[in-house]
Amino acid sequence: MSSTLTPVLDPYALAKELSGKHLIGGKLVPAASGKTFDVVNPAKGEVVGQAAYGEAADVDAAVRAAAEAQKAWKMVPARERGRLVAECGRALTEHKEELARLIALETGKALRTESRVEANVLSDAFTFFGGLGGELKGETVPFNPKMLTMTVREPVGIVGAIIPWNVPMMLMALKIAPALVAGNGVVVKSAEEAPFCVLRACQIMAQVLPPGILNILSGYGPECGAPLVSHPKVGKITFTGSVETGKIVSRTAADRLIPVTLELGGKSPMIVMGDADLDQAVAGAIAGMRFTRQGQSCTAASRIFVHSSIHDQFVQALKAKVDAMVMGDPLDEKTDIGTIVSPDQFKKVKAYIDHGVTEGGTAHSCSAMPELEGLTKGLFVQPVIFTGLTNASRLAREEIFGPVTCVIKFDDYEDVIAQANDTEFGLAATIWTRDLRTALDATQRLEAGFVQVNQNLVVQPNLSYGGVKSSGLGKEATLEAMLEHFTHKKTIIINMA
Ligand code: ADP
Repeated sequence: MSSTLTPVLDPYALAKELSGKHLIGGKLVPAASGKTFDVVNPAKGEVVGQAAYGEAADVDAAVRAAAEAQKAWKMVPARERGRLVAECGRALTEHKEELARLIALETGKALRTESRVEANVLSDAFTFFGGLGGELKGETVPFNPKMLTMTVREPVGIVGAIIPWNVPMMLMALKIAPALVAGNGVVVKSAEEAPFCVLRACQIMAQVLPPGILNILSGYGPECGAPLVSHPKVGKITFTGSVETGKIVSRTAADRLIPVTLELGGKSPMIVMGDADLDQAVAGAIAGMRFTRQGQSCTAASRIFVHSSIHDQFVQALKAKVDAMVMGDPLDEKTDIGTIVSPDQFKKVKAYIDHGVTEGGTAHSCSAMPELEGLTKGLFVQPVIFTGLTNASRLAREEIFGPVTCVIKFDDYEDVIAQANDTEFGLAATIWTRDLRTALDATQRLEAGFVQVNQNLVVQPNLSYGGVKSSGLGKEATLEAMLEHFTHKKTIIINMA
């Protein structure tokens, strides 16, 4: 079945159409209080719509709708649930251009380089998990020949999913697709900066799914996210966001004794050995640092350790490539780099840049500020490559979530492995070398959930994704993740004596 909604390519019109609404019980409804909050286009500083202001009453309505729908959903054969989830992927594909335009409008991510890419890969997660319904298998256990002993996989019940604004649709897909296939009801809390694209995506999916099995709320963390975590009918929380909020969510979940999956921050090292292919490494630094996403990525290669023999050459080549990137209106096809998502984030990024200079670093600002007509209030930040800072700098220790990277010189392999691991985070890491022994050794010693050699790919379905240390708890995006996080194992014994 394809979507019965007509794609709306004007993102301003779509933002207005979705204003003031949650999706509860398969319908777009206003907040119980009637309250809303402004959603702003960060490229122009203009209000583009008002999102429904979710609070405890809305959370309760959404959780109840999910619980009601889940009674029938868990009885639908698993492969049929999967078929419907895969169908969601197809419906989303029909709407990918409007979703891309909407996310560009509300987050400032450039349409051509980022927003379309996210909308394009969205359906992939639904297609992948949609095919896994038949894998929700149990086991038979050789316990006693007179007692048939087995395990079955049952849904956890109602899953609360809390998502951030940087790749909201993709991160939502990696949570809700497996949760739904496993037979759960779902309530999503979108990020305050990016409520409309995920609401629209869920509205499209609601054309395919039974009403109420997927609900979406907009609102702020303490007013809307917190009541979702503490709602007595929610049996599992899956969260992506900052370390601080992850800890708060985790504490509440601990009090309630419910499981949590946390995908948190990162400070991913990229090690460029002296024998690396320089062009390949420079291209990898641009992709890894997510310059086209203004560096707003948990896996951003924000600590680039470069061997002293090629350090200057590397910095020069990297700067030249970033200089050639075009900053501008996210909705303009010419634009490579859009804006920072919000004024708070903008101030934070600027403060880090100032701090790096105060610490004695050299800030190499890249790329030209855009022509300002119509964009004077835009949250544009020139990408900055810092040299002269050490791994002890705050810029190398804290997650900036902006287009700021530190290139740090090294001489000794043992020393650089120690520096790469000297961080509270452990999400991703890369090493660039032509030497197989060095590559293999580094993959074993780098403390991260995702280690790559000579490339810097992004998250993909079927590749386990998640961090160690403060970067998170639990992995996402695979069959095992679906089984571990969205089902529980029940043991059944049938006495045949
Ligand atoms: P970011 O810095 O990326 O905005 P946050 O961790 O603050 O990261 O936000 C990630 C998500 O967590 C957002 O949807 C936000 O609204 C939500 N959130 C923030 N505070 C809380 C909270 N106390 N309880 C539950 N969710 C929260």
